[in-house]
Amino acid sequence: MNDCIFCKIVRGEIPSVKIYEDDLVFAFLDISPINFGHTLVIPKEHHQSASTIPEAVAGRMFHIGSRIGVALRRKCDYDAYNLHLADGAAAGQVVMHAHLHVVPRQAEDGFHWNWRQLKYPEGRMAEIAAGVSARLAADLGEES
Ligand code: AMP
Ligand code: ZN
Repeated sequence: MNDCIFCKIVRGEIPSVKIYEDDLVFAFLDISPINFGHTLVIPKEHHQSASTIPEAVAGRMFHIGSRIGVALRRKCDYDAYNLHLADGAAAGQVVMHAHLHVVPRQAEDGFHWNWRQLKYPEGRMAEIAAGVSARLAADLGEES
């Protein structure tokens, strides 16, 4: 996509600090990191949503993201890492080229996911599971 900022990074039209590149994916440092070393892994091909990325490319993103997390842990003295992907504006996606965040973490690094824990009303879990699994089976069936 011509005016997509991450496509421009892949094409070298705007600068980035590259961590890794192969035929399918490109990884570079996030310009406003949660912790230093925070990296973004993107498909080279433009996809707004992770859901349309071919399985082999999505698999490579996850594999490389995890390996970058390990490299950050070993070389930069981090204890752990988070993988995070926001799919859609309501989920916090700002750049509309799918990207996997690799966020290196240390105990007491001052960053907290604001993770709430709701309680299901009686019967709601089973209702959601039935609806979603049927929809998923139909969608996967259409794809094959
Ligand atoms: P998201 O909110 O998941 O869409 O995250 C977008 C991320 O892209 C943010 O963490 C930004 O800091 C990062 N970002 C935006 N522009 C650039 C850029 N030119 N180079 C590196 N990272 C960027
Ligand atoms: Zn793009």
